[in-house]
Amino acid sequence: MNKHPDIRKNEYYDVYVEDLTHDGKGVAKIDGYPLFIAGVLPGEKAKIQATKLNKGYGFGRLVELQEKSEFRVAPACPIYEECGGCQLQHMKYQGQLLAKEKQVREAMQRIGKLDSVPVHPVLGMDDPWRYRNKAQVPIGEREGGLVGGFYKQRTHDIIDMEACLIQQEENDVVLQKIKAICSQFGLRAYNEKTHKGTLRHIMVRSGKATGDIMVVLITRTSDIPNRKKLVEAIVDALPEVKSIVQNINPKRTNVIFGEQTNVIWGDEFIYDYIGHIKFAISARSFYQVNPAQTKVLYEKALEYAQLTGKETVIDAYCGIGTISLFLAQKAKKVYGVEIVPEAIEDAKRNAELNGISNVKFAVGEAERVIPKWYEEGVRADTLVVDPPRKGCDESLLRTIIDMKPEKVVYVSCNPATLARDLRILTDGGYATVQVQPVDMFPHTTHVELVALMSRVDE
Ligand code: SAH
Repeated sequence: MNKHPDIRKNEYYDVYVEDLTHDGKGVAKIDGYPLFIAGVLPGEKAKIQATKLNKGYGFGRLVELQEKSEFRVAPACPIYEECGGCQLQHMKYQGQLLAKEKQVREAMQRIGKLDSVPVHPVLGMDDPWRYRNKAQVPIGEREGGLVGGFYKQRTHDIIDMEACLIQQEENDVVLQKIKAICSQFGLRAYNEKTHKGTLRHIMVRSGKATGDIMVVLITRTSDIPNRKKLVEAIVDALPEVKSIVQNINPKRTNVIFGEQTNVIWGDEFIYDYIGHIKFAISARSFYQVNPAQTKVLYEKALEYAQLTGKETVIDAYCGIGTISLFLAQKAKKVYGVEIVPEAIEDAKRNAELNGISNVKFAVGEAERVIPKWYEEGVRADTLVVDPPRKGCDESLLRTIIDMKPEKVVYVSCNPATLARDLRILTDGGYATVQVQPVDMFPHTTHVELVALMSRVDE
């Protein structure tokens, strides 16, 4: 489709918003030509200005709302628009859940051609605020000290943040104190332009169930001026801090972490529980950020696996073994595979920590290790996958189709790649029994899912 001949850049139009994109923008059509507009909701009428016109679609800016959606609400966060970390705070939570359900359903139909798959209503949170266990903020300088919070949308200006409403409150408190203490001891913020200064980012992670806190200082240099005094001051001010870690990133890059990580005070790990299972979490471990909903997600995966104690299970993309250890409580044997060697070290430690011995973990690509296990005679009754956003490697799906496990439980953070992969497995002899979305990230557009597939008898 060409640019619409009658729509001009910078002109104003009255539009009706029909839909919401997967990144939370409203979609309005002018004579069939779609415009994406931030801050508007389906069902709303608005005056907009056309800001950018591409070949089959354009962008607009909200000028005035003329008719409001029943789901519109004033964003609770005062920095919502500047920050951009949340995309749906202007929508009531109930509306967010319905929008996410619709997004999943449409991905199943459009990408997976899976029209009849049951998609359940999204499992949301009773209190969808203050859920994140990890804060990671860039640090800058203003007159009078350090600031830290977020990059103003589409810029590299660091805005100071006192509170983030989706962050556990204790993380906000700890961040504020660490910023103040680092300022007090004269620590300079890293400057992207000059590549000088020390402190690049601060990360704070807390164990929801234990109250343990880990502080990670990400610095340009290995040397931290006044390090000893700084550490003493942090420990004095914040007794819940169990671990202070330094990560060194000497590069000119916007990647946050560097390769070297040193514990500078306290333990290498903090601990958390999901259900009855205890996890040791180190500075660089992947660990789900919403502990309450993680439990909901893993319990759903366990329910779908329908284990009786006799089964052999493979957990592909197992990270630090979270799902594997959940499954091991009910299975005969669980095999976990993960590409990051440190995560597998954590997984083995976590198994030991919980006295779980019916698990075996291996480092490698799932698509290479699982066929090898198959050749060695491992036969999985149930196979669980939890891949990154890009979904499963096709060769892994081919292996699943050859291995013929009775059930496949697919945990996903991306409805589009989930739908694509469910289609491949469907063509290979599986049927999707049900799909359950879980809201791990309220007020953002992300949605997590778990799907159950079972083998169709030939
Ligand atoms: N199941 C875990 C982790 C899920 S995140 C949990 O719930 O905590 C996805 C994981 O897949 C990451 O740990 C990532 O390192 C790993 N990964 C990415 N590509 C992989 C591959 N080809 N083979 C195995 N693991 C991979």
